[in-house]
Amino acid sequence: MKKTLLLIGGGHAHVEVLRQLALNPPPDADIALFNPSPSVWCSGMLPGVIAGHYKPSEAKVNLWALCQRARVRFFETSVLALNANNLVLESGIGERHRFDFASFDVGCVSQPIPIAPGAYVVTVKPIDSLLAAITEFESVRSAGLIVRVVGAGAAALEVALALAYRWRESANRRISIVASTRLMVGYPPRVRALALRACKKLGVAVLENKVVEHIEPTRLRLVGGAPVDTQLTVLATTSAPVALLQRTDLAKATDGSIHVNANLQSSNHPHIFAAGDCANVSGLTIPKSDVYSVHQGAPLAANLLASMTHSPLAPYRHSPNVLKLVSLGDKRAIATKYGFSTAGGWAWRWKDSTDRTWINRYTLD
Ligand SMILES: Cc1cc2nc3c(=O)[nH]c(=O)nc-3n(C[C@H](O)[C@H](O)[C@H](O)COP(=O)(O)OP(=O)(O)OC[C@H]3O[C@@H](n4cnc5c(N)ncnc54)[C@H](O)[C@@H]3O)c2cc1C
Repeated sequence: MKKTLLLIGGGHAHVEVLRQLALNPPPDADIALFNPSPSVWCSGMLPGVIAGHYKPSEAKVNLWALCQRARVRFFETSVLALNANNLVLESGIGERHRFDFASFDVGCVSQPIPIAPGAYVVTVKPIDSLLAAITEFESVRSAGLIVRVVGAGAAALEVALALAYRWRESANRRISIVASTRLMVGYPPRVRALALRACKKLGVAVLENKVVEHIEPTRLRLVGGAPVDTQLTVLATTSAPVALLQRTDLAKATDGSIHVNANLQSSNHPHIFAAGDCANVSGLTIPKSDVYSVHQGAPLAANLLASMTHSPLAPYRHSPNVLKLVSLGDKRAIATKYGFSTAGGWAWRWKDSTDRTWINRYTLD
């Protein structure tokens, strides 16, 4: 009998699933993908898009074209809710879809901070609102601009440095990072030192151990400290689950992401799978990073196909010691692995080549 598989979100793992489905089309299957836009960004290239090293078109995967090749129906809409018990999905355009199997790769969002009406705040994910804000500021003759990037991790650092590089000739645009902890917490201390040096070079101020409790139109209110002024606030805070996950009956991990077993199956509904930033694999601590979403793509594809054909499933094998590359705005990057960290132009070229190789794999001529 024909089986229906619904893919929710066109993230990095599902892009590989689409490629595998094109190579090995399952017999008797009706497959659909739901994503709010017809393309998805290669997240590693986002800082390069902001800095001006890449055109947006170089950094996006065409989901619609991949779906066509894989004979997967494409719905340009978000998913609003999913009932795993009743096997029904509700889409953002008010349609209900029944399914036999479903798979989530919807990423995550920035942890929200209370915002007062009138404050100009954009989040780094999805990146489109930040790119629109940048273009808007560049299209008007403005006096000064104070940009505060709120966050302590790689995304905050990369975005702040990319903006500083993009606006390196505009002395009246001041960019700073407001971090609730020390910058690059969780990385070796040398990474923080390299990051601070890069910030100094590009004129990005770093305020550490400042917890933002409220974003107001002209200032950030800090816990136990004097407020700091702001005009444009960019949220690059730690990750939080997308709203959809609260409207499912799937078991969640403590961070709110979907709890899955080593086969990437939901721990309470084995016909539902999840991968990437929205999944929490039992017994593993996996950083929210496109590297792991990419790694999970092939095992996820294999297990989805196996489920539909009643074949045995195989576990995802996690490699914790991957090379981490953090871009520094000016075509340099920090490279860190096994506690050893360094920075230079070669690391950016390595990152550039890795990202281009990934995106070329999904680019159809
Ligand atoms: C500025 C920036 C720079 C980064 N740089 C790096 C880097 O250099 N290296 C690295 O490893 N990581 C980097 N990251 C982290 C990286 O973005 C994520 O870890 C990665 O994108 C996660 O991939 P994913 O497959 O889980 O989801 P994503 O790639 O985020 O894709 C999720 C997809 O699901 C869609 N979606 C969301 N909600 C719904 C819904 N309700 N219904 C349907 N579809 C939905 C989204 O629109 C999106 O298309 C960076 C992040 C940012 C913000």
